[in-house]
Amino acid sequence: MSEIQTCKHNNKMSSQLIETLNFNQGGIGRHKCVICAYANGIKDGENKLLDFVEDDKIEICKHNKKAIRSSIESIEINQKPTQGRHKCAICAYSLGYEVGVGDREDDFDEFNNDELQDTEEIWASLKTTSKAV
Ligand SMILES: [Zn+2]
Ligand SMILES: [Zn+2]
Repeated sequence: MSEIQTCKHNNKMSSQLIETLNFNQGGIGRHKCVICAYANGIKDGENKLLDFVEDDKIEICKHNKKAIRSSIESIEINQKPTQGRHKCAICAYSLGYEVGVGDREDDFDEFNNDELQDTEEIWASLKTTSKAV
């Protein structure tokens, strides 16, 4: 079952989500703590910072995900195999960013919910929305 990983910098991310990240052993995100990257992404997403920085301050990984370079550079190294070692910090940041902006649910809540029920609720709310329009 999925468990929550807490890194030594006290940020949290589920093992399940870490597993979904792409591998990346190069670039500025190399060996950086993906859990911190995810947390930074949420913070920056809440302020939609990517909309405000110049292109030359943005780092794009080979998976075509974007991150603010300084935000990735400030992250410490984490080589724990269970905590996303060799995973792409920029992809992790990008996932967090979507959560921060509100495009994506933080997956911590999902563990207690029946997924089927979630889907039905989403469809129900979609129908309501389209009727209202
Ligand atoms: Zn960390
Ligand atoms: Zn990536």
